[in-house]
Amino acid sequence: MLRLSVLGSGSSGNAAVVCLGDDTRILVDAGLSARQLCLRLETVGIEPDSLTGIVLTHEHGDHSCGLDVFLRKREIPVFATRDTSLLVSEKLKSPVPWRIFEAGAAFEVGEAVVESFNVPHDAADPVGFVFRGSCSSVGVLSDVGHVTQVIIDRLHGVDTLFTEANYDEVMLQNDIKRPWATKQRISNRHGHLSNDQTADLISAVARQNLHRVVLGHLSSDCNSPEQALRVIRERLEREGFPHVDLECACRKKPTPLKEAAAPAAVSGPNVEHHEVKYPTAEGTNENRVREDQQPDRRRENGPALTVPEPAFEQTEWAF
Ligand SMILES: [Zn+2]
Ligand SMILES: [Zn+2]
Repeated sequence: MLRLSVLGSGSSGNAAVVCLGDDTRILVDAGLSARQLCLRLETVGIEPDSLTGIVLTHEHGDHSCGLDVFLRKREIPVFATRDTSLLVSEKLKSPVPWRIFEAGAAFEVGEAVVESFNVPHDAADPVGFVFRGSCSSVGVLSDVGHVTQVIIDRLHGVDTLFTEANYDEVMLQNDIKRPWATKQRISNRHGHLSNDQTADLISAVARQNLHRVVLGHLSSDCNSPEQALRVIRERLEREGFPHVDLECACRKKPTPLKEAAAPAAVSGPNVEHHEVKYPTAEGTNENRVREDQQPDRRRENGPALTVPEPAFEQTEWAF
């Protein structure tokens, strides 16, 4: 079963980790300081030296700034598109064991299959990912100006979705700190997603197996966890997905490392199983036992995780 923890997310830095079984641990972006990457990996029970690979969505500093120091003592392959690797390399002092893929291609990292896909953002060759294990999938989408059909097709039917919900449209319009040009850059078709755009995306890709949604890259001035959760929760309930485990990633501490899908066949006196039919991306139907009514979902929610403050300055307008 795949598991996901978002180690930190926001304009000041982004990183997540996806694990599969005992042997596959993939860092997704390295936009925290090396010290924070290590601390937060250890907080969720992962030894930093044990990573199987690192995958990068794009070259912006809030997704790659920790890579140089983190890799000085470690030989971990880094998977990126060619343009992303070239731009990140310009900022690195040490050589990186690059593994180049083309946007749209799938590749293996450990036992996981990683599918990449193009996304519109003001970077050289930005991508999103779907991670697949034998019985679960995790979609990762960050830094996207607008939702394309390719994004919907690729994320359709994932078990867990980590997606940005960057700004609230009214809060962004009313913000007095940012110049007009910056507001335009955030909200244009190669900037970031608003809460409403993220809600539309979730409506388009959600199927009954959708188990968990983590919202990330929230603007500290132009959004709030309460507002983002309210908008997305309302949409999930309206679309018939009130059971989805919904949370906001945080800038300063990791989310718990949780399983991507509901347990497939947990037996016990208080557990009911439902056979759910849902269309695949190709439009065919398949039968899978995916949804269990868990009387007590709290057992998945570990205690709040705390780590020391980040050792870097927050740059709210970073992309
Ligand atoms: Zn970016
Ligand atoms: Zn970013």
